[in-house]
Amino acid sequence: MIIVIKDNQEKKQIENLTNWIKSLGLGIHFSQGEKTAVIGLIGDTSKVDIDLVRSLDIVESVTRIQEPYKNANRKFHPDDTIIDVSGRKFGGKYFQVIAGPCAVESEEQVISIAEAVKEAGAGLLRGGAFKPRTSPYSFQGMKLDGLEILKKAREETGMPIVTEIMSEKYIDAFLDVDVIQVGARNMQNFELLKELGKLKKPILLKRGLANTIEEWLMSAEYIMSGGNMEVILCERGIRTFETYTRNTLDLSAIPLVKEKTHLPVIVDPSHASGLSRLVEPMSLASIGAGADGLMIEVHNNPACALCDGPQAITPEQFLALQRKMDVMLPLVNKIRS
Ligand code: PEP
Ligand code: MN
Repeated sequence: MIIVIKDNQEKKQIENLTNWIKSLGLGIHFSQGEKTAVIGLIGDTSKVDIDLVRSLDIVESVTRIQEPYKNANRKFHPDDTIIDVSGRKFGGKYFQVIAGPCAVESEEQVISIAEAVKEAGAGLLRGGAFKPRTSPYSFQGMKLDGLEILKKAREETGMPIVTEIMSEKYIDAFLDVDVIQVGARNMQNFELLKELGKLKKPILLKRGLANTIEEWLMSAEYIMSGGNMEVILCERGIRTFETYTRNTLDLSAIPLVKEKTHLPVIVDPSHASGLSRLVEPMSLASIGAGADGLMIEVHNNPACALCDGPQAITPEQFLALQRKMDVMLPLVNKIRS
C-alpha cells in the first residue's frame, strides 16, 4: 500500500501517521520529496482500513498494491486447490457437475431427477430445501422435511448433496449435508459466513447479484479466515441493465477469478440466464472459459415446477448437454472425477 501525503504537511502529523502504521506491525518505506512525502507500507496490509487512511486530512491518495484477501489469494498458494466431496473432485484438472431441481418438492420428484442426472454423468445432487424467494407469498421450500428428502436421495443414489443455508440458526441441521451452499442473496451475510468458517465442510459460495469480484473473494476470505479452506466459488450471473435474461453471465469472471485465487470456480448457467434454452450454450461457453464445473437446474416437469421452471432443463436435455460437454472437456484438458 502506498500513501501519498499532501504537499507541505507538518512533520508532526506525518510522524503520527507513521507511528500508527508501525503500531499495526507494518514496516515503513518513507520517501521525502521537495514538497511531497510518500509512505510505502511493508508487510500484510490486509488489516489496514484503506477508507480510514484516505479520510485523513494529510493524505492525498492511497493505492493498494496487494489484494486484501490473503487466504484466497493465488500469490500465497500458487497451486489449484482441489476439493474432494466423497470422491467427487472440484478444481485442478477435474470437472464436476452438480444437477437437480431448484427446490425439493417431493421425495418422488427428487429421487427420479437424481437417478436421471446421475445416469447422465452428474456427480452431485442439488435441491433447495430453504428457498430465498423475492415474494414472501411464493413457495418457501420444504425446509427440514426437504433436507430429509435429500438425504434419502443420497442414500438411494450415492450422490453427495448440495443445498442452500439461509441462516446460521439452522447450522446443526446442515452438518450432515455434503456441500453447504451460500446463495447470492447471502453472499455478504457475514455472521453466517463466520459460522461456516468454523466448520470442516465444503462451502459453495455464490457471487452476489450486484457484487464485484473483490467483494466475492472477501466473502470467501470470511470463511477461510475462520479455518475452513474448502470454498468453491460459483458465478451465477450479475444484475445489469439487460432485461432479456434474468441476469448477465459474467464469463470473464471465470478466468479472472482463477488467476486471482486458487479456489475452484464453477458456473450456474440456470440462474445466470433464467431461460432453459440458454443453459446449453452458456454451459459450453463456461467450459471454454475454464470453469471447474457447472451447477444446473433440472426438473422432470418444468412447466409445473414450484420454483424457477422457466430456467429448468429436462433430464433428456441434460443428457444431451452432457454428451456435448464430453466432446469439449478434452479441449480444455479437463476430466470428470
Ligand atoms: C439456487 O441455487 O437455488 C439459488 C437460489 O441461486 P442464487 O442464490 O444464485 O439465486
Ligand atoms: Mn433456482
